[in-house]
Amino acid sequence: MQPPGGKPWLLFGLLGASLATNLVMALWWPSGEQDCAPAPQAQAMPTEAEAAAAAAAMGDPAPVMQPEPVAAPVDMAGYKVIHGVVEANLARTFQDLGIDSADAVSAVFSRQFAWDLDLRRDLQKGDAITAIYTIDEQGDIDMPLAWFDSKKLGKALQAYRYQAPGDENPSYWYPDGTEVPYRLVDGPIAQYIQITSLLDDRRGHEGWDFKALEGTPILSPKAGRVEKSNWNHAANGNCVEVVQSDGVHALYLHMSRNDVKPGDSISVGQQIGLVGNTGRSTSAHLHYQVEKAGKVLDPGEYHGTTRRQLPPEAMGAFQQEMAKLDAMVEAG
Ligand SMILES: [Zn+2]
Repeated sequence: MQPPGGKPWLLFGLLGASLATNLVMALWWPSGEQDCAPAPQAQAMPTEAEAAAAAAAMGDPAPVMQPEPVAAPVDMAGYKVIHGVVEANLARTFQDLGIDSADAVSAVFSRQFAWDLDLRRDLQKGDAITAIYTIDEQGDIDMPLAWFDSKKLGKALQAYRYQAPGDENPSYWYPDGTEVPYRLVDGPIAQYIQITSLLDDRRGHEGWDFKALEGTPILSPKAGRVEKSNWNHAANGNCVEVVQSDGVHALYLHMSRNDVKPGDSISVGQQIGLVGNTGRSTSAHLHYQVEKAGKVLDPGEYHGTTRRQLPPEAMGAFQQEMAKLDAMVEAG
C-alpha cells in the first residue's frame, strides 16, 4: 500500500479552520431525528376466515396462517443520521444542516477522509456526506459511521467504526477490511484512539498527536540515550528527549509519568513513560516529535506509514456491525 502522497496531514488544520463562507446554500435534507424505525406497514391480509372460505371454495384444505414477519425495530440509541450535499466546503455543508456543534461534527467527520482525499482541493459540488453520530454532555462526538461520496474518486468512501481483535480502541475500517487511518511503521505507541493532529496542522505544530487513554505505554522505537526531561514543563508537561542511534531526536510530551531520566541508555521497545494530560494539553494524548540536526521531521516520512487489514476471522463480526449501522442509516 502506498503511503499517502503529498501532505494530507496539512488538511486536519485547514478543516478545523474552514469557516470561509460561501453564499451558495447547500441542499438541505432533514436530519433523521426519529428514534426508531417506522413500524412496518400493515399489509392487507385476508382474515383467517376469508382465507379458509377462499380455500374451501377452491377445494383446498384451509391454509395454516403464519404470523406476519415483523422487522425488529432499529435501535437508534440517541444517535442521529445526517445526509448532506456539498456546495462549497465541508464545514459549510454541516452548518447548513442546522445541527448543533456543526463545526465539531464536521471536524470529526473530515478526519476520516483526510487520509484519502485532499478535502480542500478534491471536494466537488454534489459530493455527498452521510454520518451517524451523537454528542455527549461533555461535548464529545461519537461517530460510528461516516460516508463520503466523492465525485472526484467516482465512489463512496464508507468508514465504519469497529474494534479489531487485540486492539484496545475502535478504529475506522472500509467495508473490505482496510483500516481507514494510516499508522506509523514501528511508531512509539500501539494502542491509541485516534491521530488527532499531524505536522503543521496548526501553526507551529511540530509533531503528531495521538489521542489515547491516560496510562497507555509509550515505547522507544529505537535504541538511544536520554538527553533531557521536563524542560519547559508548563507547556510540555512531563516530557523526555531521546537521542537515538540514528542521530534522530525523539521527543515525547504531556506524559502522566516519565520512566527514564537523563543519561539513561534506552533499548528498542523500552518504555519511555505513559500517556497523560500534563502541560498545555486539554485531553490525554502523546505529542510525538522527531528532529534531526535541529530540523523537525514529519513522523510519517521518518517512520513510513502503513494500513492494516482486518484478519479474515474478524470479518464476520465486522460485517454484522456494518449491517447494524447500515440499518440505522436506512431508518434515519
Ligand atoms: Zn502536539
